[in-house]
Amino acid sequence: MPISISTGRKMQMFLLDLLYPNRCPCCNCSISWREYLCEACRQEVTAEPADAFCPLCGKLLRDCFCGTGLSYDRAAILTEYTGAARAGVLSMKSAASLHFGRFCGNVLGQRIAEDVVLSGYDLVVP
Ligand SMILES: [Zn+2]
Ligand SMILES: [Zn+2]
Repeated sequence: MPISISTGRKMQMFLLDLLYPNRCPCCNCSISWREYLCEACRQEVTAEPADAFCPLCGKLLRDCFCGTGLSYDRAAILTEYTGAARAGVLSMKSAASLHFGRFCGNVLGQRIAEDVVLSGYDLVVP
């Protein structure tokens, strides 16, 4: 599933790359100015398909805890907090890069738009 990046964001990324060459927020390798993540990290973060996660609690199906009672209706999950995903989240916490958040927001937004149940909700919160 290709990531869509607006023209304005592309111009910003191109100009920023001239001063600060673009790096993957997960593994810190050099990447093209037009990418949010390197190919290896992108594949690792999106390795689990959407149906690998419980649509209610958001955990992997083997770890589902819906029986304990949830304080929310549904969850849309991209990945577990391990490996490249953990490194990407930490890069946002340290303000090193927002690329991981932009990548995840883009992919999750596409998944939510394609989900007939989630796309019917009035409010989706991160
Ligand atoms: Zn990487
Ligand atoms: Zn569950």
